[in-house]
Amino acid sequence: MSTISPLPNFVGGRWTAGSGPGESLVDPTRGTELARVTTDGVDFGSALAYAREVGGRALRAMTFAQRAASLDAVASVLKANRAKYGVIALENSGNTERDASFDIDGAISTIRHFSKAGASLGEFRYVRDGEPFALGRDPSLEAVHLAAPRRGVGVHINAFNFPAWGTWEKAAVSLLAGVPVVTKPATATALLAWEMVRDVIEARVLPEGSLSIVCGGVRDLLDHVESEDVIAFTGSAATAARVRAHARVIERNPRVNCEADSLNAIVLGPDVHPEAPEFAQFIDEIVREMTLKAGQKCTAIRRIIVPAEMIGPSADALSAALATVPVGDPRHPDVAMGPVVTKAQQAMLGEAAAQLRAEAAVVYEGPRDAVKSEEPERGAFFMPLLFRAADSSTARAVHEVEAFGPVATLLSYLDAEGAAELVARGRGSLVSSVVSADRRFSAKMALSVAAVNGRVLLLDETVRKANPGHGVVVPSCIHGGPGRAGGGEELGGLRSLWFYLQRSAVQGPAGIVRELADSSALLASP
Ligand code: NAP
Repeated sequence: MSTISPLPNFVGGRWTAGSGPGESLVDPTRGTELARVTTDGVDFGSALAYAREVGGRALRAMTFAQRAASLDAVASVLKANRAKYGVIALENSGNTERDASFDIDGAISTIRHFSKAGASLGEFRYVRDGEPFALGRDPSLEAVHLAAPRRGVGVHINAFNFPAWGTWEKAAVSLLAGVPVVTKPATATALLAWEMVRDVIEARVLPEGSLSIVCGGVRDLLDHVESEDVIAFTGSAATAARVRAHARVIERNPRVNCEADSLNAIVLGPDVHPEAPEFAQFIDEIVREMTLKAGQKCTAIRRIIVPAEMIGPSADALSAALATVPVGDPRHPDVAMGPVVTKAQQAMLGEAAAQLRAEAAVVYEGPRDAVKSEEPERGAFFMPLLFRAADSSTARAVHEVEAFGPVATLLSYLDAEGAAELVARGRGSLVSSVVSADRRFSAKMALSVAAVNGRVLLLDETVRKANPGHGVVVPSCIHGGPGRAGGGEELGGLRSLWFYLQRSAVQGPAGIVRELADSSALLASP
């Protein structure tokens, strides 16, 4: 029996213990228990109502500049406590320093981005989409599209792989828009989100009621959503479908944004030969995507699409590069890739890989006995695994099965149309990259795959240094993708505020309409 008491939830403006023993949060390297969480006994109805009434009212009374200043204060609190977050990320997520930085520093810089961008909206509380215009021939009647913060609560449900970034990229936009937040991190890695939120709450830099956190099962949370709420969900496509199909969600029709899984692609241009600088760039990009956070990134490269004659050189170069990645306990200074987050994820990853294996050949699989850890069998380790589709034209699993770990598959193409067709078979992705020194090929591919991707990254030698990486979500650009990727648009600079704002066409005497327009900040359409 565990002697650890579950972490309290922060709802209704106070720390409240859930009931029962709760679920265990475990170190995926050593298998030791770190904390427990439970939402049993938490009154979600009251928690959401409190956030709407107390937090929503307080945030709506503030201007964008004031909310932006609060975000800046949040970022400063997190920065001041940065060191302990790295330890938690190592212990609860098996993160190396590089993995932890991606999540934690990514979270802080995203908050700072929205603080800075939000300050540019100044001392306004409303925004307008475009300028006033006459409704007909008579200029006395005009209209303007104004938008106000929705009066509900932002229900944020996050995935296990980004406990820091996932929490704060959503919260930053919601708070800036004037909508309070109830955040629910994924259970397995909730400790980091809980600690960060606790630090911010204790620092009292946000208005009362504007930020709540629940750690543990989702239980009846969605039974209490109202029409003016927004649900921002990140997780698997299967859970996203359950959120959308929830009876209360259908009945009350809150706004829903889903960021789901995605079989992201990288395409190598036909001009790139093995000695070209772009080939080394291509290999580096894939190895980083496969191994950073042990491949547990929604944006990670899963499908590697190359000209048929480049299958061999790509397989050789990737195998050689993957063989140099030390896997093991992230406490070990030489280790570049840690475990996946839980034994359950390790098992699910094994099942997904088995499905891929059924129609692909293994090109490279890291040797399991190379794991650098005192007790490797206690850890949720999964070695890098590279496949090559046996037949690229008929392969199905590679376009359907998300192996959420250090796993990718090589596919061959014959021409640009064929490459774009393979990208599209992912049924909607978060991001695809194209690596080529041929500008015409890159431009053509960008236009061919843009409709099935939330983001397209074009790479050549000229942007090698500037490139943040295929998997890096920059707050100024759209994050989200069509179809299987969830159909959402979570980020994208200030345009991400629209999800939390309600737009209304205000029609009336030109004098009033113009006064209203002058008392709002201009924000570009989504
Ligand atoms: P998951 O199993 O779908 O869980 C996601 C979240 O949903 C968790 O907080 C989970 O809570 C909660 N949840 C579980 N059942 C629910 C229900 N019936 N209604 C509402 N919420 C429910 O996903 P995961 O395993 O944590 O994350 C991995 C997946 O997320 C991968 O497929 C990855 O591609 C995707 N992902 C996508 C993005 C993106 O931006 N597109 C980013 C990161 C991850 P519990 O943890 O308590 O079960």
